[in-house]
Amino acid sequence: MQKKEQLYEGKAKKVYRTDDPELLIVDYKDDATAFNGLKKGTITGKGVINNKMSNLLMKRLEKAGIPTHFVEELSERETVVKKVSIVPLEVIIRNIAAGSFAQRYGVEEGGVFEKPTIEFSYKNDALGDPLLNAYHAIALKLATGEEIETIKKYAFAVNEQLKAFWSECGVTLVDFKLEFGRLADGTIVLADEISPDTCRLWDSKTGEKLDKDRFRRDLGGVEDAYAEVMKRLSEHI
Ligand code: ADP
Ligand code: UDP
Repeated sequence: MQKKEQLYEGKAKKVYRTDDPELLIVDYKDDATAFNGLKKGTITGKGVINNKMSNLLMKRLEKAGIPTHFVEELSERETVVKKVSIVPLEVIIRNIAAGSFAQRYGVEEGGVFEKPTIEFSYKNDALGDPLLNAYHAIALKLATGEEIETIKKYAFAVNEQLKAFWSECGVTLVDFKLEFGRLADGTIVLADEISPDTCRLWDSKTGEKLDKDRFRRDLGGVEDAYAEVMKRLSEHI
């Protein structure tokens, strides 16, 4: 697999073209941002952990029948993925109140929902990723109604798989963000990453935060938290 020119540099990853027009290489960085890029920093070793964790979880999801962009891990930080046209929606599933949900609705963090919720935001940094519903997404031509139904089905299936798996690791899956994309033939697949950057993960016994909230909220022990969830995942996968 030949790595060609860089197509894009995002906040957490770089994306490269390859000699195959249907494949890309993503390269995970240690850069961390929060609050729509207002807070910037480095989490040493994060790129290596996020690359490995995302790949292990996507492989598991594939086995459970959820199609993903994962093709092959190339190195500690690099992975070959299927090139997709990203559906510009951040798909957020929540099992427990936290973060913007707790703020928006004025509830304490930690309340467990009777059933998981789904919400979408428009993936648009200039607008600050505004919240929208399925009707808005269709009106804005971000996705078709049929695509949204597929995305919802996959997102809840991902939640069931990941909740059960993290629970085996002594970790509670609070909430997470997914991105989906279209292959050349229009098939919807799970893309981007699944990592402590994009999931809230709490220790099931102590409630300790083992994710990017340690960085967002200046709680300290950021690197240790990422290493701890990676260790637990490696022992159980
Ligand atoms: P951001 O763009 O939010 O700063 P990243 O630093 O993670 O995020 O950059 C990675 C970019 O690559 C994101 O815009 C993401 O939507 C996109 N991406 C993820 N997986 C794929 C894929 N399989 N094909 C094309 N683009 C992808
Ligand atoms: N999330 C993400 N990228 C974003 C926004 C949210 O990965 O741009 C993840 C975040 O890590 C959390 C979940 O989505 O696991 C829900 O985030 P929330 O809406 O509570 O926003 P935040 O508190 O991060 O502003």
